[in-house]
Amino acid sequence: MVTTKIAHEREETPGPAGLPTLQPEMPWHVETLQRLLAGSERLPHALLLLGTPGIGKSRFAQALGAALLCESPLPDRRACGRCDACGWVAADTHPDLRRLSLVIDEDGKQAREIKIEQVRALADFLVVGAHRGGRRVGLIDPADAMNMVTDNALLKSLEEPGDGLVFVLVTSRPDAIPPTIRSRCQVRVIEGPALEEASAWVQGQTGCSPAEAGTWLAIAGGAPLNAIGFAEPAQSAAHRTMLEAISRLPDTSPVAAADALQPWHGRQWLPLLQRWLMDLARCSAGAEPRYFPAQSARLVELAARIDPPALAEAGRGLAAQYRHVEHPLNPRLFCEESLEVYLGAFGPAGTR
Ligand SMILES: [Zn+2]
Repeated sequence: MVTTKIAHEREETPGPAGLPTLQPEMPWHVETLQRLLAGSERLPHALLLLGTPGIGKSRFAQALGAALLCESPLPDRRACGRCDACGWVAADTHPDLRRLSLVIDEDGKQAREIKIEQVRALADFLVVGAHRGGRRVGLIDPADAMNMVTDNALLKSLEEPGDGLVFVLVTSRPDAIPPTIRSRCQVRVIEGPALEEASAWVQGQTGCSPAEAGTWLAIAGGAPLNAIGFAEPAQSAAHRTMLEAISRLPDTSPVAAADALQPWHGRQWLPLLQRWLMDLARCSAGAEPRYFPAQSARLVELAARIDPPALAEAGRGLAAQYRHVEHPLNPRLFCEESLEVYLGAFGPAGTR
């Protein structure tokens, strides 16, 4: 028995059915959504929304789904938020909406994958016509949290789309979407906001100063939904600890760094390691660091010790590691391997 309860991205808060509440799109996505809805008669039966984490893709997908089901849409075709259909969507009880996301298992942990019974339930939903006579919407987020079995089950649904059916798949990791699924979807890249807009939003959400917003946005790679996390002391402290462990390398051992990173999931420390490497690349080319301006002195010092071709190789190596970030066979070993890949930028072991 699977209970449906989880918020896998920060932007979501649990709703009445245990799923994250459907929330409106982020302000920077209004225009993109309006453009997409303007041609909604010609919407393909499957859309794959790609974009970096923390920019509001999930909300975008939810707002799109709500708009397609709304029975009294606004002039720009976005959901009215007031009709019966919008009420059911908000309560996650709309009979023509199915949402597949990561659930909380009985042991209280977030499932790592979308489960086959979830996809099978979707297939059942598809064979029944629309209850309200309009469209039906299947939201799959994150779409990269599928495995071969669930992908195959979904593929059948994608191959035989029913009338008025729209699948909306969301991912930050397009590499993890199999070509068979991808080729059946129309791909849309969802962009994040410009820095000024992101900064204003972060300040509005947290009450922080423009300088703090700038620092958090830099660390979060410009992703505002991730940046607001740093307003929480616990996250901010975790970030400092992880960054300290990474920045001490190669003057400390990868084992010591892996010990320090142990409490956190790879999806937290690996992007940090990747950004740190990108900043090293920038510093070695004489540019200012983009993500860690406060660590500029250490970055410059380390940049003088790296070998540029080896750094490029380490960057590719970390990107390859990222493909396994959700499902490492052995998390501890995965961490040490990733740190070794990073250390490759400083030349072979023994010469660093
Ligand atoms: Zn409505």
